Amino acid sequence: MTSEKRKGLLERLAEGPVIGDGSMCMTLEKRGYCTAGPWTPEATVLYPDAVRQLLREYLRAGADVLQTPCFYSSDGKLEYSDVKFTSAEINAMACKLAREVADEGDAIVCGGLSPVVSYIQGKGEKAVRKEFEAQLQVFIDYDVDFVLAEFFGHVEEIEICIDVMKRAKKPMGATMRIGPIGDMNGVSVEECAVRMAKAGADMIGINCLFDINTCLKVLRRMKKALDDADLHPYLMCQPLGWLCPEVEENFCGYLALPETPLGLDPRTITRMDAHRFAREAYEIGVRYIGGCCGIESHHIRAFSQELSKERNKQPAVNDLCPKLGAQLCQSLLPNIREKVKDKFWMDLTPASGRPFSPAISAPEKSATFMTK
Ligand SMILES: [Zn+2]
Repeated sequence: MTSEKRKGLLERLAEGPVIGDGSMCMTLEKRGYCTAGPWTPEATVLYPDAVRQLLREYLRAGADVLQTPCFYSSDGKLEYSDVKFTSAEINAMACKLAREVADEGDAIVCGGLSPVVSYIQGKGEKAVRKEFEAQLQVFIDYDVDFVLAEFFGHVEEIEICIDVMKRAKKPMGATMRIGPIGDMNGVSVEECAVRMAKAGADMIGINCLFDINTCLKVLRRMKKALDDADLHPYLMCQPLGWLCPEVEENFCGYLALPETPLGLDPRTITRMDAHRFAREAYEIGVRYIGGCCGIESHHIRAFSQELSKERNKQPAVNDLCPKLGAQLCQSLLPNIREKVKDKFWMDLTPASGRPFSPAISAPEKSATFMTK
């Protein structure tokens, strides 16, 4: 077991910024291994080579952490989506694949827990705890390196999840899918941050739904609230890979865009955007930077290369691509040869090539999450 000798999450965070991995289901869907709509992770069992390959790309791009590819793997959701495998079967395979690929490099494995239906249905804390315990058990059985509660819309629910996760006796992360208007019960960004920290998470922050610029705004507010309360968990962010400023004040974030989920490509962030985001997030105090929907391996590469000095290490991908444009001097085209400098790329405002494409669109009023 090579991973036993590895530094754990907290040791790594104490030394410098940690890089997470990127999108799983949304990327597998584009590659033909996942269905848009249900977004269930049966590819983990049906197409293990495809999942392994994606995890491997994140590892090669510089990820220190691979998450178990089993988001939305709960029996209720799988049954609803007519998936023939149980949550236990998918999660066990997810743990095996993540560990196998992590051991190809120096990465560790994160087991991710997601919100549960019984909370929204108002079935009471006992039922909610039971659903979290079922998710957690597989991560205990497979001895993941740390656990993460992610994509929570209610701070009340993530507090229960953090409490349940303590049973694993592993480092704990907690991230909410919130933007500037706070959680779905009207709890502010500041209070969410403080409550996640007080509940006992070692690392807190946000993931999914909002773009890199909105995330930076929210992270600044979280950092200040934590400092004011004299709380010092590590800060974490796994943003979207698409730009969507117009949904900043929408609880559904990018899910309210007319382009979601099949027409989002023109909104994809560039790797230069990813470099800038990693730098700004680091300066705010964020110490775990990974990606959610739409973040691909070249974005993870940008995060890890941008922070390579602070991390005192280079990603494996540097064997071919040490930095932005480094080998363009070898191009046969003189205009391309001139683009060898980072500065050219970082100063560039890329065109979209779509003369009739508006910069933003009108969020859909019908967008809503189930509420209690
Ligand atoms: Zn996401």
